[in-house]
Amino acid sequence: MATYKTPCIFCGELIDRDARFCKKCGSRTPFGYHCPNCLKPIDRSDTVCSSCGRSLSTQCPYCGSSTFIGTGQCDSCGQTLLIHCESKLCGELQFFENKKCTACGKPIKKAAKQIEKIKKGVK
Ligand SMILES: [Zn+2]
Ligand SMILES: [Zn+2]
Ligand SMILES: [Zn+2]
Ligand SMILES: [Zn+2]
Repeated sequence: MATYKTPCIFCGELIDRDARFCKKCGSRTPFGYHCPNCLKPIDRSDTVCSSCGRSLSTQCPYCGSSTFIGTGQCDSCGQTLLIHCESKLCGELQFFENKKCTACGKPIKKAAKQIEKIKKGVK
């Protein structure tokens, strides 16, 4: 059977349709947008997640613009809004505003502090 490849919506890398994550950018949902809080699929036109109620836009800590959060990237400046879980055993990419890692459940503290610093630098 031929392998059917589809581009990752985040980085464009061609990946197997049944792959559980993108090898290149690490996205766990390479075929559609998802809520960074509960990982349920969302649409770009949604304002809040229909599953957990999280607001689906936030202020980018890098450029200060309001951005959709389902892409893991700022719409305006293109900076990634994902950080690696600080647990060495896990290391999953997490949305920067997540208080806890959605993969291992450990609190994300160090990375949150880094983002706070960046935010202070935004004028
Ligand atoms: Zn990718
Ligand atoms: Zn959600
Ligand atoms: Zn930005
Ligand atoms: Zn983790």
